[in-house]
Amino acid sequence: MPRVAQVEPITTARVLRGPFDYVRTDGMEIGSVVVVPFGRRDVLGVVTGLIDASEHDLAAPKEVLEASLPADLVALAPWMAAEYCSTPARALSLMLPPKGVRGRTALQARALREPQEGERLTPGQRALLASLPRPASSDLPALRRLEARGLIALEPQAVRRAPLHTDVGSAAGPRPELTADQARALEEIAAAQPGERLLLHGVTGSGKTEVYLRAAERALAGGQGVLVLVPEIALTPQIVSRFRERFGDTVALLHSGLAAGARYDEWLRLRRGEARICVGPRSAVLAPMEQLGLVIVDEEHDASYKHEGDPRYDARHIAERRAAEHGAVLIAGSATPRAESWERLRRISLPQRVDGAPLPPVTILDLVGVRGALHPAAHEALVDARKSIVLLNRRGWSNFLTCVSCGRAWECPECDVTLVLHKAQGHLACHHCGHRERIPSRCPDCASVSLARHGTGTERLETELPGPVFRLDGDAGDPARVLAAFQAADRGILLGTQVVAKGHDFPDVELGVVVDADQTLRFPDFRAEERTFALVAQLAGRAGRGAAEGRVLVQTLAPDAPSIVFASHHDAPGFLAGELQRRRVLNYPPFSTLIRIVCSGEDPAAPHAAATALQARLPGSLGPAPLFRLRGRERSQVVVKAADRAQAVAEVGAAVDAIAADRTHRGVALSVDVDPQ
Ligand code: ADP
Ligand code: ZN
Ligand code: ZN
Repeated sequence: MPRVAQVEPITTARVLRGPFDYVRTDGMEIGSVVVVPFGRRDVLGVVTGLIDASEHDLAAPKEVLEASLPADLVALAPWMAAEYCSTPARALSLMLPPKGVRGRTALQARALREPQEGERLTPGQRALLASLPRPASSDLPALRRLEARGLIALEPQAVRRAPLHTDVGSAAGPRPELTADQARALEEIAAAQPGERLLLHGVTGSGKTEVYLRAAERALAGGQGVLVLVPEIALTPQIVSRFRERFGDTVALLHSGLAAGARYDEWLRLRRGEARICVGPRSAVLAPMEQLGLVIVDEEHDASYKHEGDPRYDARHIAERRAAEHGAVLIAGSATPRAESWERLRRISLPQRVDGAPLPPVTILDLVGVRGALHPAAHEALVDARKSIVLLNRRGWSNFLTCVSCGRAWECPECDVTLVLHKAQGHLACHHCGHRERIPSRCPDCASVSLARHGTGTERLETELPGPVFRLDGDAGDPARVLAAFQAADRGILLGTQVVAKGHDFPDVELGVVVDADQTLRFPDFRAEERTFALVAQLAGRAGRGAAEGRVLVQTLAPDAPSIVFASHHDAPGFLAGELQRRRVLNYPPFSTLIRIVCSGEDPAAPHAAATALQARLPGSLGPAPLFRLRGRERSQVVVKAADRAQAVAEVGAAVDAIAADRTHRGVALSVDVDPQ
């Protein structure tokens, strides 16, 4: 039996690379989570290997924790580290259950022996004995007395902390009859090879969720686990409800919004196989599950699948890797799939809405010459419609403030961006770093009191819309509550940022309005077209479900942009054909891999110098290009566009390590983003 355990300490330091050898004590296996002495401190670590002997003097771990990682996750960590130019320790830290949390136990009383004849017991004691087994609570002193007489035993027992979950009712009852398209999709899924990747392209309202549920049912029946990834949970509670309605307690929920205790217990239920379906956002892709038979990525186009910390992983990419390792079938589902998925995955389509209703007609409204945020036709339609959804991807009252006399614009002192005015809170705010200041009454440069507010955000638009408004954006209350209130209302307008376009299923929405379709188009990014298409098409999909006749209005200054025209025809295949052709010509993903390296620092010139040195080490890379100052840090970036992903990642990793070790570039932080969004 191996007597030495190799332990990877969970630290964020880049230079420190484990694993390190320790004495293997009882219960230590690969995946064990331990506390080990490390230098002068104790640190958390994960056992990544077991060996027979070591040439070092070995210390023993201080503690072996109850939770342990499954072996497949331990093996995934170095792959993830290499894939995203990070470290195994950082990857492992994302896989662990919440830190510092233990399982909870409560004392449980059970009978030991029958009372003897004539044994003196009060009526209260007799009642207690008759009610066994029971958890001990306020009656603990009385139970202790019975325990002392040998009548009962008090033992700690695990208590489950269940996640609280706000259910938003779903329109359909349990287990509907499948449509012909759904049945065909399921057959194709059932016939898929282990490890095969499928794209379920279903128009909005085509019943993709029902297909997921049936596929999950089949995997469970075959004794296999199911991983279901969804965009942010708070914004898409409906799919969680549907899984719980259908499968009950075998569904575990895993996300950062849960109380730590509940998250720990859900994690452990998965780890022990007590729960066989995991539903959660991107972080759930690292759920401790074995024998996965099915991995589902719902709304696979959603940008929230990309993690912004280090490692900057993409849950869709990890999901593919895990599915492949487990021989599980992967289903990525969307009405507006990414060009990458369209090109690489086998397509299954649900071309029609479940109820056979046509997709709502979309009218493009040209904003040229229109004053104010709303086109008169949009205003009129909002007056007429009973329930509507209005999308404006901009929080706050107005985008920026200027002095009419001298032209001063209010900017963030830490970032090179203008401050957004939030009227209700009475402040100007930076949406990048969180800086805030009071709304000025006069210009500090010229003392003029005539200040101009430019542009319209959701806060201002709310005051201009006819009828009761339910606002959903980062500033307005709990999303689940706002959605439930809108659902229950007889009339009203759901107004918000892009969250209103996410998979909500309200059967009585008659009208959808995109207030500024150009907003995403203006982004200097090769995904701008794809994003705009998805946003418009997704919002269009929210209208005209169920009994209501629907229609959609799209306001734009670019009525001929392909993304807007194709979205207005609900034509994803048409859009994607053109988009893929454009990407092929320009050599963008999926025909290449992009890697972005950002150098940042407080010294004005240092980041640029580091980026220049980096660029020189990476032949063919683009840059250095200055980025706007963020949180008081100057930034400069280098972009690598490569045909061979693995080779490019390795080269970038080596170049970054070299620059990080070079004393000339001290004080510059390097951040690597593979497949940037
Ligand atoms: P999508 O995710 O494709 O937009 P949903 O899964 O939300 O579509 O389904 C739209 C609506 O149709 C939901 O209310 C759902 O319960 C209902 N539904 C799904 N499949 C069926 C079916 N076979 N028969 C009747 N209703 C269905
Ligand atoms: Zn001024
Ligand atoms: Zn700022």
